[in-house]
Amino acid sequence: TTFDEIDLGKALNDNIKRCKYVKPTPIQRHAIPIAVNGRDLMACAQTGSGKTAAFCFPIIAGILKRVPPYRPPSGSGGGSSRMACPVALIMSPTRELSSQIHDEATKFAYQTGVKVAVAYGGTPMAEQLRKLARGVDILVATPGRLVDMIERGKVSLRMIRYLALDEADRMLDMGFEPQIRKIVQQMDMPAPGSRQTMLFSATFPTEIQKLASDFLTNYIFLTV
Ligand code: AMP
Repeated sequence: TTFDEIDLGKALNDNIKRCKYVKPTPIQRHAIPIAVNGRDLMACAQTGSGKTAAFCFPIIAGILKRVPPYRPPSGSGGGSSRMACPVALIMSPTRELSSQIHDEATKFAYQTGVKVAVAYGGTPMAEQLRKLARGVDILVATPGRLVDMIERGKVSLRMIRYLALDEADRMLDMGFEPQIRKIVQQMDMPAPGSRQTMLFSATFPTEIQKLASDFLTNYIFLTV
């Protein structure tokens, strides 16, 4: 199998080649076609398995296929402190992981017009907000900083169409479950079931099973 055989669109396929990805890893080979078809997904995958691309490619391909309907109306929010309305949210437990995902997603989205931004704690919010205010399609975030931004009215999740949770077991170990539930609740308000969710975890204990049954709809379970 090659990436060309999966319908990701020319722009993304060119970027995949530029990143020198030739052969999909096992998680990519199984997860990407399922996600491109719009299905929810729970995947057990370890660090180094290539899971970042497994959730980034379907998100970018999906946005590129339907950019116009998902763009928030221009000027929404109004004024100089425009609220960021991403269509995709990728949550991860740490600053380091979020930063890595952001850098990879930025390469995959190169010259597609899809805008990627990152929000993590432990650093002043101003710089992250400045970038968000310039427009964002895919937001990569840690749960704590994201809740903070939502509460300050800087980010709205009402346009979220794609949600990926990376290293979900680690996020729960770090005590992020209340924040994660609060965040996902915000997305369910406008239109329940209108979002595609991908849950990635190295392990699959009962807490993760519970999260999967609460957040995913009619999902496919993958383990590689
Ligand atoms: P990840 O598990 O997503 O952190 O990926 C681990 C490393 O493998 C990263 O450096 C990726 O850039 C690289 N990688 C992921 N998928 C592929 C692929 N299909 N071909 C070559 N390198 C890859």
